[in-house]
Amino acid sequence: MKRIKIRLKERSYEIVTGRGAFSQLPKVLAGISESSPTVVITDRNVMAGSGDLLSGVLKKVKNPLVKIVLAPGERSKSLGVFESTIKKMVTATRSHRPIVVAVGGGVVGDLAGFVASAYRRGVPFVQVPTTLLAQVDSSVGGKVGVDLPEAKNIIGSFYQPSVVLADTRFLGSLAPRQVRNGLAEVIKYAVIKSSEMFGYLEKNIEKTVSLDKKVMDNIVGRCVSIKGEVVEKDELDCKDVRIILNFGHTLGHAVETASEYSDLYNHGESISLGMLMAGEISAELGLFDRRHLERLERLLSAAGLPVLLKKIPVKKVMDACRYDKKFISGVNRFVVPVSIGRVRVIESVPLGIIQKAVKRFTAMGTSRKGKRR
Ligand code: NAD
Repeated sequence: MKRIKIRLKERSYEIVTGRGAFSQLPKVLAGISESSPTVVITDRNVMAGSGDLLSGVLKKVKNPLVKIVLAPGERSKSLGVFESTIKKMVTATRSHRPIVVAVGGGVVGDLAGFVASAYRRGVPFVQVPTTLLAQVDSSVGGKVGVDLPEAKNIIGSFYQPSVVLADTRFLGSLAPRQVRNGLAEVIKYAVIKSSEMFGYLEKNIEKTVSLDKKVMDNIVGRCVSIKGEVVEKDELDCKDVRIILNFGHTLGHAVETASEYSDLYNHGESISLGMLMAGEISAELGLFDRRHLERLERLLSAAGLPVLLKKIPVKKVMDACRYDKKFISGVNRFVVPVSIGRVRVIESVPLGIIQKAVKRFTAMGTSRKGKRR
């Protein structure tokens, strides 16, 4: 197990990563308050896949427990579920101030964190992330909230947890596609901050994909440290520091939008393509060596992530970009790699270069001949 301190003055907290971290829960809760009712918010898939692990640890908790089990999926990150969860808490915990424990992926973490931030103007919150994406990304940094049908993550706040227990034992019950979803973010961290970790991933990608215990503990710990460092410098995402975490996300989001959030490309798969397209923009501008772009492509491919956009034409991705008015007026911003382990932000990239980069990694709308250099 590794303990990583996130230093945010009076909101500082610890992230415990690795196998066994979740077993610390009874001690963590006792440290906050032994008598406070504890509301465990989770979802049905976590119960089905990791129910034994969950109940084994909860048995040892002395606090009175209430369990709220949500339907899995993004639809639970809604105002409706926010309200119904709070109503259940009012009934179950009466006049007491509870502790909220989120045991789940990013959806459960974001929803439960928002509930904790608002209930009685804020109650203690413990994050137990159970997907790879949640362990390396969404549980670190304090962003909590819900979606509206009109826009994702549009309602929310910053609310730091008391502690995060990122136990890699939970990863064992994840569907392989969910593992790959998180791996895209893992690879993103290596490109933005650590050439050493990139090399480690290249060497250990098979073990990573098959969730080798030692390798996963190592990777989760490294990613949390990287995100933690960025968050410490820009807690409220207002200093242009966190922006580097968006590497691959600008065109990745365009891919997600173009696929109409269908099952075709999930978030991580879209980000895989977005990172390659951003790398291509950088290479085209002479900022990034093509040999490194090829390394990135090989690593993403070995991780089982897409490296060629299929079934969606270039035009649809470009149209998704054009929804963003800033894009057409040329005031776009991209985080692009300049080497493995280092990125920079560039602005006002000509549309022609963006289109060329999208084309390079898209099967439709271009002839296959001459696609790969
Ligand atoms: P998710 O929470 O929907 O989990 C993915 C799937 O895995 C779900 O079906 C879930 O039920 C299942 N699952 C979770 N743990 C499991 C386990 N141990 N065994 C078996 N199945 C399990 O999705 P996610 O990818 O974890 O997170 C995506 C969400 O995170 C999005 O809503 C996104 O906006 C949010 N997010 C937030 C931040 C942040 O900083 N707060 C950052 C990135 C993403």
